[in-house]
Amino acid sequence: AFKAIVIDKNETGQTVELRSFDEADLMDGDVTVRVSHSTLNYKDGLALTGKAPVVRRFPMIPGVDLAGIVETSSHPEFKAGDAVVLNGWGLGETHLGAYAEKVRVKGDWLVPLPAGLTAEQAMAIGTAGYTAMLCLMALERHGLRPDRGPAIVTGAVGGVGSVAVALLARAGWHVVASTGRPQEADYLKSLGAAEVIDRSELSGAARPLAKERWAAGVDTVGSTTLANVLSMTKYSGAIAACGLAGGMDLPATVAPFILRNVALLGVDSVMAPKALRLEAWGRLARELDLGKLAAMTSSVSLDQVSQAGREIVEGRIKGRVVVEIS
Ligand code: NAP
Repeated sequence: AFKAIVIDKNETGQTVELRSFDEADLMDGDVTVRVSHSTLNYKDGLALTGKAPVVRRFPMIPGVDLAGIVETSSHPEFKAGDAVVLNGWGLGETHLGAYAEKVRVKGDWLVPLPAGLTAEQAMAIGTAGYTAMLCLMALERHGLRPDRGPAIVTGAVGGVGSVAVALLARAGWHVVASTGRPQEADYLKSLGAAEVIDRSELSGAARPLAKERWAAGVDTVGSTTLANVLSMTKYSGAIAACGLAGGMDLPATVAPFILRNVALLGVDSVMAPKALRLEAWGRLARELDLGKLAAMTSSVSLDQVSQAGREIVEGRIKGRVVVEIS
């Protein structure tokens, strides 16, 4: 048996407790991993609070990200002692997840811990940071470069947002960081933001087209925020959309697409193919300033993760949170 956070259903909703979990109850997989660190993403907050139906099986161990050491493996690419990372693939949603001392998973889901990163740093990056890199890669694949104009990041003080600010600034972009927490302007500037704007500028009903302000963007908020961001995107610009912290709807018009040649680039991290993951992790290891990563990261233990889950869905978490497991 090992320690795990376990979510179960009851008559009124769900229970969340830190308890002992029997190894025999783990799900199928060809690799077992001793988990050293996990992290807290917005989706983990939704699972822990039950605010949205991300958990598809009960009991569930939440936690969509892990770093750890392979204990046993019958997968050809991994052997006992290997340091590995896993992001998504339904972990913590359909497959027993990472807020546990042990997981059993498909080896195909694992990537090696990138050279140059510790397990703790990999989880400080986590799905949030790996998604921020997927967004930058999507913008670059679209042909966008910093000489085209500024890049907007929404939800900038959050996890995806903080890493996106650091990565875009490092890549040479003039970063406009949008936040509802203007008191964090110095934090955002320390990560590389050139300008900080109040998110209220992007939260009213969007006009079809507004003054052109940026050539690229990473949107973690969705809803009216994304609609406004699109309406303010320069001719032939593109926005990578990865989040819904402000809502799942998109009250926009097609005007930016058909009159300004703007593109909306969807970004998913959960089912991203392995080659893309390896590229993203390789670039994170090389391009993310580890001093900035440390400055945006705090940590909690397994027994504090439920409380932190409530805070993240309320928009009160700054940057990234590592979960220390063993
Ligand atoms: P997070 O740390 O909570 O960041 C979200 C940020 O959004 C908050 O810090 C806040 O930033 C802003 N925000 C929150 N509520 C808002 C509201 N009602 N209106 C406007 N802004 C609001 O969460 P995260 O882990 O970075 O995740 C961010 C989003 O990306 C989530 O929706 C998550 O589900 C999504 N995501 C998607 C993928 C994918 O594969 N597509 C991967 C990772 C994350 P400020 O305080 O700066 O305003």
